[in-house]
Amino acid sequence: MDRREFSKRSLLLTAGILTGSHKIGMANEAGDTNNYYEEPTKKLPIRNFDVVVAGGGTAGVVAAIAAARHGAKTALIEVKGYTGGTVTEGGTALHSFYNLWKAFPGVTKRQVIRGIPAEIIDRLVKVGGATGHCEMERGYDYDSVCTAICTESYKLTTMEMLDEAGVFMAMNTLVVGAVRDRARIKGVITESRAGRELFCAKCLIDCTAYGDLAAHAGAEYNEPNDYSVCNSVGIGNVGLDKYYEYLKSHNAVGQLARGMRSGRPDQVIRVGSESVNLPDGFTQEARDIGMAMITTSVHDNYMMFIKCNLKLPVSPTDRDTVSKAELTIRKNMAKAVELFKKYVPGCENAFMARTSPKLCIRRARLITCDYDITHEDVIDGRHFNDDVFVYGFHDMAPRLQIKDGGTYGFPYRALCVKGIDNLLASGMLITSDHRAHMSTRNTVCSMAQGQASGTAAALCSAKKCGTRDLRYSDLYEALKKSGVYFDS
Ligand SMILES: Cc1cc2nc3c(=O)[nH]c(=O)nc-3n(C[C@H](O)[C@H](O)[C@H](O)COP(=O)(O)OP(=O)(O)OC[C@H]3O[C@@H](n4cnc5c(N)ncnc54)[C@H](O)[C@@H]3O)c2cc1C
Repeated sequence: MDRREFSKRSLLLTAGILTGSHKIGMANEAGDTNNYYEEPTKKLPIRNFDVVVAGGGTAGVVAAIAAARHGAKTALIEVKGYTGGTVTEGGTALHSFYNLWKAFPGVTKRQVIRGIPAEIIDRLVKVGGATGHCEMERGYDYDSVCTAICTESYKLTTMEMLDEAGVFMAMNTLVVGAVRDRARIKGVITESRAGRELFCAKCLIDCTAYGDLAAHAGAEYNEPNDYSVCNSVGIGNVGLDKYYEYLKSHNAVGQLARGMRSGRPDQVIRVGSESVNLPDGFTQEARDIGMAMITTSVHDNYMMFIKCNLKLPVSPTDRDTVSKAELTIRKNMAKAVELFKKYVPGCENAFMARTSPKLCIRRARLITCDYDITHEDVIDGRHFNDDVFVYGFHDMAPRLQIKDGGTYGFPYRALCVKGIDNLLASGMLITSDHRAHMSTRNTVCSMAQGQASGTAAALCSAKKCGTRDLRYSDLYEALKKSGVYFDS
């Protein structure tokens, strides 16, 4: 369309809107008029990379570091101004670097997730931004260790690691489209204050949690809407010790771990009671606002995460439903702070110190991959001939645990997006079976997926091959050399 034609069309459109002004008056609550505006076409500046990672959250950070460390010219596109995603916004602790050895007497303690995810925690510990891996004293049939982090340290440390690896970080930049060339993706279209751009790459990884890149590229997906959404509040002036004493006085401590807090060892760093009804009504009032009773902290006088959950009637990709939910959950988080002031002695001056910038999701789009990990794969501890790491945590423990406190293998095929030759996916956006997903979606598993997909993408780019043409032995060797643990 040339400029004259565009002006003519714009005029016609404007006229349409004017003549239909009574229609605008009848617009629904969301301002919907049933009129459309046709955008003009635009020339976009092109940037060229070997690997593009969409989404700099839990999985994306690790994917980008892994790709860059394997020599790929790598771009990370993140819509927010910091990295870390749901680790820094929703999760109470990182589950889990270990097998569930404490719940199975005689089973050997093993750190099964190593490599870049473990390196992040080691770096955080050095700056007082993580507790390290602290053994659970109570609730160890759920997880053997508690690895809690400081949200702000996590953001800074991961950005520093990305920078050191030489990753080009396009922050405050949203993935809004994809350009397909038959079975391949040529690049992703982004939008930021720099305008619209096309980031081209030989291999791409969708780590957006929402599956935005895969969906834009026309990949197969569905939206199960099988979880609550959540926001989490950090509460100041409420010591974990006070909460612990309060729960103890009611014989209601369900989970307990001690470790390094504010530079001192042997302090309470995780405490909670999920299933016990406190006699004074705290539990019931907490349930009414979807509040979880478990929390962690690496700092004195602070609760890092108190979660408020809300079940939506539709998938969290529905903007208007989510917009309303944002307000509901903010009201509930304010009530959560009031509950601590009301019930926990010594917390009368509690205040809301931090919230997540937006609702956190546990799943939105489910992207179809070449292999779909099943519930049986997980709990029976199955291993595959294309494993890219092993994992031993299940979020439904103690009800569902991995057999004998062991591990299951995560096959490379589970990361290859169906029907696209150069797209991998990592994080919460894969695994259809809800019970299997209750294991694969967790932070540490998402990070390990990131290391596998980042490494694979770099190798595919160097070898100029599609994701399915990569020799497994090459990927295995590269992962093994980078510290990934494979023993079943
Ligand atoms: C409330 C809650 C509590 C949880 N508790 C725990 C827990 O205690 N322990 C545990 O191990 N796990 C927990 N989980 C699960 C775990 O945190 C997540 O499943 C995991 O972090 C998901 O990682 P991800 O990389 O898929 O997504 P994220 O970490 O959310 O990363 C996605 C990133 O992509 C970015 N992004 C999204 N769309 C775009 C776009 N179009 N363009 C550019 N960037 C984009 C986002 O800003 C974000 O940074 C919890 C999850 C929730 C929601």
